[in-house]
Amino acid sequence: AFIVVEGGDGAGKTTQLDLLESWLSAHDVACERTREPGGTPIGERIRTLVLEHGHGEVDPRTEALLFAASRAAHVVQRILPALESGATVLCDRYIDSSVAYQGVGRGLGPEKVAEINGWATSGLQADLTILLDVDPTISQRRRAGRDGGPGDRMESADDAFRARIREAFRSRAEAEPDRYLVIDADDDVDAVQRQIRHRVAALIGE
Ligand code: C5P
Ligand code: MG
Repeated sequence: AFIVVEGGDGAGKTTQLDLLESWLSAHDVACERTREPGGTPIGERIRTLVLEHGHGEVDPRTEALLFAASRAAHVVQRILPALESGATVLCDRYIDSSVAYQGVGRGLGPEKVAEINGWATSGLQADLTILLDVDPTISQRRRAGRDGGPGDRMESADDAFRARIREAFRSRAEAEPDRYLVIDADDDVDAVQRQIRHRVAALIGE
């Protein structure tokens, strides 16, 4: 199964994926853990190239196309082979992040960004997308506690930008309720993880 975790900066995606991966591994479920932008040598270089620039510094179309290019390589070189080998793929961000950040946040239009990414991925969709929905003021506080580096490029984004991102993720989930699990990520880490495990267990028959 192809499982994606989505959400704004500081929603807790990486933490939740760490916990999910440990749990699946403990149950002898073969997992392929990966992330976007990135996940392949070329993809990781694209990630570094884009993220070493601050929020809003890269032309939005350039950013959207580079992230789509990273994703194209990721699908062909990593995700599809893992799925074919029978592994469960756990991916930190996928198409919804591009739709939210570049499509809505940076104003390229959600449909256009979805279309580019549909082409880049040959239409590969996640079996389950877990959206960690969080109040941007809370997630900003979480992020403030982290080290600097590329992950902090949203530091200069304003509250309106963060609110648009959140709404973009939510509207994607609302359009396809069966393929999404939306979790209130203001809950504590263990409560969020319990909901994730419950749904993943049903999906993969654990
Ligand atoms: O998920 P992660 O925190 O590793 O993402 C790194 C940075 O890239 C974050 O600041 C995130 O907001 C940004 N990003 C973006 N557009 C995407 C995906 C991530 O601006 N499509
Ligand atoms: Mg993260």
